[in-house]
Amino acid sequence: MSNTLEQSPPTEESETLIEVEGLKKYYGGEGMFSDPPVKAVDGVSFEIKRGETLGLVGESGCGKSTLGRTLLALEIATEGSIIYDGTDITGLSGTELKEWRKNAQMVFQDPESSLNDRMTVGEIIREPLDAHSWKTMTDRRERVLDLLSAVGLPDKHYFRYPHQFSGGQRQRIGIARALALEPDFLVLDEPVSALDVSVQAKIIRLLEDLQEDFNLTYLLIAHDLSVVRYISDRVAVMYLGKIMEKGETEEVFSNASNPYTQSLLSAIPEPDPSAASQRITLSGTPPSPSDAPAGCNLSTRCPAKIRPEAYADADRDLWQAIERFREVVRERARVALSLGDRVRRRFNRFDRFDDIEDSRADTFDGVEVPERVDQQIETAVEMVKRGEPMEAQQHLYTEFASVCDHERPEMHEVSVSGRQSYCHRHTDEYEDVEPVISRRADNE
Ligand code: ADP
Ligand code: MG
Repeated sequence: MSNTLEQSPPTEESETLIEVEGLKKYYGGEGMFSDPPVKAVDGVSFEIKRGETLGLVGESGCGKSTLGRTLLALEIATEGSIIYDGTDITGLSGTELKEWRKNAQMVFQDPESSLNDRMTVGEIIREPLDAHSWKTMTDRRERVLDLLSAVGLPDKHYFRYPHQFSGGQRQRIGIARALALEPDFLVLDEPVSALDVSVQAKIIRLLEDLQEDFNLTYLLIAHDLSVVRYISDRVAVMYLGKIMEKGETEEVFSNASNPYTQSLLSAIPEPDPSAASQRITLSGTPPSPSDAPAGCNLSTRCPAKIRPEAYADADRDLWQAIERFREVVRERARVALSLGDRVRRRFNRFDRFDDIEDSRADTFDGVEVPERVDQQIETAVEMVKRGEPMEAQQHLYTEFASVCDHERPEMHEVSVSGRQSYCHRHTDEYEDVEPVISRRADNE
């Protein structure tokens, strides 16, 4: 893993291979009348040192694969730079791009579908060599045999077809193919997720050995946190297109600073039930990447959200009810938006908003609601009933929003080793506002 190059003096930091700055990848949204863009990757910055493994974790749909593909220039970046060994690859095209591609390859999750079943294993591994007219045919055949042996497959497999192999063997073939052009950098996109646990361990060990032997640099995408913890030197945690926390693996796992990382880690089952740490649950569902919150991307779900000053001392149950009610109204507004005005009028679908009273009753059931709050809620309910959920959303925002709703946080350094976390809690102003995790679900 971290592999110190012999020629570099011991005091110097090891060499940076990839430096990503303000990278964005949006899909769609270019036309004047088109839907808003899907902000799959929305401004991420990080670096990967040569010989290192950076683990990338986060729930499905948060932008991990898009980030991986953009790093390999398989997608055109919307904004930002990717400096690879001194060259900004976002500016490459044509032969330059083709040449560069030799340096960086991808290993995919699904060994079942990523290999062409009509080609022999030898042809599959040789294909990148053929595409780049690598040396002579004899050299290519030699190279494929070397690669087969490097990934632990016998020569005789050269003439077999992928369907004759198990998932683990197919993943070995995929890895051999990715290594054919002697790349420095591999994006491993969920490389073991589709495999049996016993096979997973073997493939992980193979990846470690290959990294050592060929001084490879990895971006390892995985949702299995134990795999990431085991193999990564550093970890980046992603949520809704943004990196929430990044730092040295053991630090992130044992001392996470970001509320999102904390909730992600708290979901790992404890091997020892007596050590039961409390599970931190995020409320609601993740927003769509085409409709991310204006402030912190976690603001609609954050268990440690900062409150506006007027409600700093409000009862916890009351505050949670307010937040839940805002979520209900936000959802109405979203549905209304997606239906479109014309459709709504035509079908006179405003009746769908009548049950807002029920939602209100459910949400505030058993909670003591002060006059001022009650009035605000009442106004919002009336707006929703009139078929104006967007206005209701705005009304609640004006009364109840905090810095988390209206300002994007910055990346703050949170440890001497340089770990960083994206959260308003780390600014001096908010550091002392109540404990970081304020909402815990006890055995939900
Ligand atoms: P992950 O790998 O973390 O599960 P992805 O990078 O695959 O997430 O997807 C991130 C978001 O971008 C998702 O909302 C997904 O639907 C969207 N997305 C991915 N690829 C495309 C595409 N080619 N066109 C439009 N949206 C896309
Ligand atoms: Mg993915």
